[in-house]
Amino acid sequence: MELTPIRQWGWPIPEEDLLLIAGPCSAETPAQTLDSCLGAARAGAHILRAGIWKPRTRPDAFPGIGEKALPWITEAGRETGLPVCVEVAGARHVELALKAGVDILWIGARSTANPFTVQEIADALTGHDVPVLIKNPVNPDLELWMGALERFHLAGIRRMGAIFRGFSVYKPGIYRNAPMWEIPIELRRRIPDLDILCDPSHIGGRRDLLAGISQQALDLDFNGLMIETHVRPDEALSDASQQLTGDQLALLLLGLHRRRSTVDDPEFLANLEALRYDIDQLDEEIIALIGHRMEVSREIGHYKRLKDVTILQLDRWKTIFESRILRTMKAGLSESFAREFIQAVHNESLRQQEVVMSHKTAEELGPNPPDRPNTLKK
Ligand code: PEP
Ligand code: MN
Repeated sequence: MELTPIRQWGWPIPEEDLLLIAGPCSAETPAQTLDSCLGAARAGAHILRAGIWKPRTRPDAFPGIGEKALPWITEAGRETGLPVCVEVAGARHVELALKAGVDILWIGARSTANPFTVQEIADALTGHDVPVLIKNPVNPDLELWMGALERFHLAGIRRMGAIFRGFSVYKPGIYRNAPMWEIPIELRRRIPDLDILCDPSHIGGRRDLLAGISQQALDLDFNGLMIETHVRPDEALSDASQQLTGDQLALLLLGLHRRRSTVDDPEFLANLEALRYDIDQLDEEIIALIGHRMEVSREIGHYKRLKDVTILQLDRWKTIFESRILRTMKAGLSESFAREFIQAVHNESLRQQEVVMSHKTAEELGPNPPDRPNTLKK
């Protein structure tokens, strides 16, 4: 996919700076928008943000000021000399934002989840050379995210970036939106030229979590951050608990440690290569062992077919599940990994036995069902 990196979109961002988008969750009043943006600019933002139309879960929540607030954010852009971005969720928003002179558009998580909305916005953008940032969909579905990127690319958008804001889950843990980091990492693997920023504000949902999430994003080599800032966070009409003042943002940035992507040190590179060689060998052994385990599973499948007994033997599965989780955790691995690992091995084992039982080939049985969320309890 042919893309222009954010740093080449036409606004100067010093090479040594961490790319930063900041500004209020919502534009609420002219003064609040300007003061929040001034705070963000003082903290080092390169691009300002403000929500004009807010996608709120419940109808009694603040829905954003709407069109009337567009000049407030463009004014903040003029005052600070920085480009501004707003969220658009339909063709009408695009038209109004572009007419008002907004520099960059972003697609919110709820919009990305809806291909009709994405296509409507992409159609509205055809012929406009405006940069677009695309948040991940609310649900952990990489294909939807990819689909949105492809629709904008097909509409001729080349100045395109992605924003990772975590995923909505039914029972959230400490995070407002679960950071399933493996999904943006897979996106990076599939589209290496795509800049991906992290939005710790919507992942954390709480001020005190932002620094930790931001550091994690930097350690995973994200290309920058989008952080919500408000002149008086506690009084914010939306997302009050996660917004920072400009000073708090500056402090957070000071505490971040930026590592290099790599280093030109021959000894380091040689050691790394040696360790990677070990990893390659170990992976080879693990795969061969699992292959061997599946051979035994198939043999068991033959026996079960001979004696006409079911593939799933619940008591045996319970014993395996419990004992292997304990064993995996004893090896210093996390419980969630233990669960996923043993479930994946067991699923494949059932499938191999199914092949033996049904006399069908793996192809005839169809593809494996997509990964299901881990539903088994200890
Ligand atoms: C926002 O950035 O204010 C916002 C509504 O984000 P998201 O679409 O990620 O929920
Ligand atoms: Mn918000």
